[in-house]
Amino acid sequence: MLSLGIDVGATKAHGVVLDDSNTIVAEVGAFSRRGPVGLEAVLLHIANSLAAKLGVGLRDFDSVGIGVPGMVNPATGEITAAVNLNIEHMSLRSTLAPHFAVPLRVDNDVKVTAIAAGMLLDSLSVTYVNFGTGVAAATLAGRLIRGHDNAAGELGHLVLDPDGEPCRCGQRGCLETIVGGRYLAPRMDFLGLNWTRLGETTTPAGRAARDQAVRVIARLVTIVSVAYASEHVVLGGGVIQAAPWTITAVKQFLIERGETATFPPYASIAARISTLSLDRKAPAIGAALIGQGWTEGYKA
Ligand SMILES: [Zn+2]
Repeated sequence: MLSLGIDVGATKAHGVVLDDSNTIVAEVGAFSRRGPVGLEAVLLHIANSLAAKLGVGLRDFDSVGIGVPGMVNPATGEITAAVNLNIEHMSLRSTLAPHFAVPLRVDNDVKVTAIAAGMLLDSLSVTYVNFGTGVAAATLAGRLIRGHDNAAGELGHLVLDPDGEPCRCGQRGCLETIVGGRYLAPRMDFLGLNWTRLGETTTPAGRAARDQAVRVIARLVTIVSVAYASEHVVLGGGVIQAAPWTITAVKQFLIERGETATFPPYASIAARISTLSLDRKAPAIGAALIGQGWTEGYKA
C-alpha cells in the first residue's frame, strides 16, 4: 500500500508516501507556486518526484490526499478563497483526477494537520493551532469540527486590537497581524530583531516584541482551550518551528496567570500544550491520512 500525501502552504509544499503502517517511505519538499496553474504544477512535480524515488508511476498510488489553505469542500474537492495561493476557485480533484488511478481527497491544510496530530498522539481530543503565514486552528472532539462551509477555526482575523496594524482583510489589529508570518517577518526586519533568537533578547524593543507575541499566542491558546477543552493543544507552523522558545514562554505566561486568577485553569492549559514531533512533515502525513479515508480523525 502506498499512500501519497501532499501539503501545499503559502510558501512551501511537502509530500510524503506512507506504507501500510503509516511510516514515511519517501518524502520531498518544494516551493509553492501560485494560481491554479502553479498549484497543479507543484502538486504534479511532488507526486512525480515521489513516484520516481520509489520506482513507481502515479497510477500505482493506492490513495491520494492533498491539504491546501483556504476554504475547501472535502465532498467535492473544490477550493475557494485560497488567498495565500492566489486562487479564487479551483476544482482541484477533477483537475488532477486524470493523472491518478484512485479518487483524490482534498481538505483544508490545518484540518489535515489536526488529523495527523490526533494519530500521532493517539487521541481524538486535540486542538491544533497553526501559526504560519496566517493563523488558524482545527479541533478534533471525537470527530473533526468542520462548521458551516468547513470554516470552523479560522481565528486569524479575530480582532485583538481595534487600533492595531491594518490587516489585508480590511480590519485592524487582527491576531494574524501580530503573530502571522506575513506580518511578523517584516515587522521583525523593520525593528532589526531576530524572531528565532527573540527568546534570549535583552533590549527593551526586543523584550516588548517578545512579550506581545507571547501574550497573543497565550490568548489564542486560552480561547481554544475554553471553547473546546481539548486533551492536547498542539502548536505548530513555521512561526513556531522557527522559534521553539515560544512554547516554554507561553507555558510560563499561563502558569503565572494561574497564580493570580482561578479561571480558566491556566496551569492545566499550560500542561496540555505540546508541539508536533514531525513538525514540517505532519501536514503531509495528515494529507496522506485524509487520502486513506481518515476524514474525521479516524479511518471511516
Ligand atoms: Zn484580518
